[in-house]
Amino acid sequence: MISRRSFITTSSLAIAGIGLSKHGFSSNPIQNNKFPIVISTWNHGLPANEAAWKILSKGGYSLDAVEAGVRVPEGDPKVITVGYGGIPDSEGKVTLDACIMDEKGRAGSVTYLQHIKHPISVARLVMEKTPHVMLSGKGAFEFARKNGFKKEKLLTPERKAAWKKWKKGKKKFSNEINIENHDTIGMLAIDKDGRMSGACTTSGMGYKMPGRVGDSPIIGAGLFVDGEIGGAAATGSGELVMKTLGTFLVVELMRNGMSPSRACEEAVKRIVKKIPDYEKYQIGYIALNKSGEYGSFCIQPGFNFAVKTEDKTDLEDAEAWLKKL
Ligand code: ASP
Repeated sequence: MISRRSFITTSSLAIAGIGLSKHGFSSNPIQNNKFPIVISTWNHGLPANEAAWKILSKGGYSLDAVEAGVRVPEGDPKVITVGYGGIPDSEGKVTLDACIMDEKGRAGSVTYLQHIKHPISVARLVMEKTPHVMLSGKGAFEFARKNGFKKEKLLTPERKAAWKKWKKGKKKFSNEINIENHDTIGMLAIDKDGRMSGACTTSGMGYKMPGRVGDSPIIGAGLFVDGEIGGAAATGSGELVMKTLGTFLVVELMRNGMSPSRACEEAVKRIVKKIPDYEKYQIGYIALNKSGEYGSFCIQPGFNFAVKTEDKTDLEDAEAWLKKL
């Protein structure tokens, strides 16, 4: 039986005329010393990468590219796991988390942000205009409003109907694997001048408990960039990533000489060793080192990511721990 994700992937690729990489797994990193390059999580990474590429291909700054890139799924109501049209919490509120980092190690983040369509742009302003790294909830919203962001309704009629159905079924929140209820976009890019930036944005786990914040806006959990070494982004059950500070770990492993793929695998292994019921969850990591080599790893088969360089536009499958066993 074809899964929802592979169906979407296959059909959207067919429409776009894009080929799946023959070698498949990202454990075969390219030797790419030619920049720019952009990689991002899941199949919604394909159109996001295109938006980033418009900036990167003209010699633009990677920070502008990752912001523009992830704004695409943020603004697309068909992407139900990021931004506008995202799945709400158990009370029907859409609450958004996002963070951004540049090559100098500057960082900005927003958590539990409501009514603002593009949390990544607010996170960038936190980084650029405040002495802080993270703003949350009402404070983040007021900061956004003061900086000209419109107050908008983020819950679409489709998501409202689905939430009402969910509520009727009196389902409990669970952060166990469920391909329908999570899919953050994390993006990493290196521009023509070798500057790396990263962005991560999400509506979080579907039907989460009110007030819940996941890994995505946490620097070192959902995203980490060290311009001297490389960057990493995470998707999946955020609680597991937070408990192991996953993307910081991936970057530190690369600092100690591991390839991006091996570093992602080690970070997944850390979860496998520490979390007894890890098989119920999905985590996917992507990583990019400063030479432009990239890699990924996940717990469950089914995690993919998009890659764009001058020579390729690909959607690649990550190697999975449970497939290796
Ligand atoms: N990591 C996100 C969270 O826990 C979910 C996802 O990746 O979709 O909020």
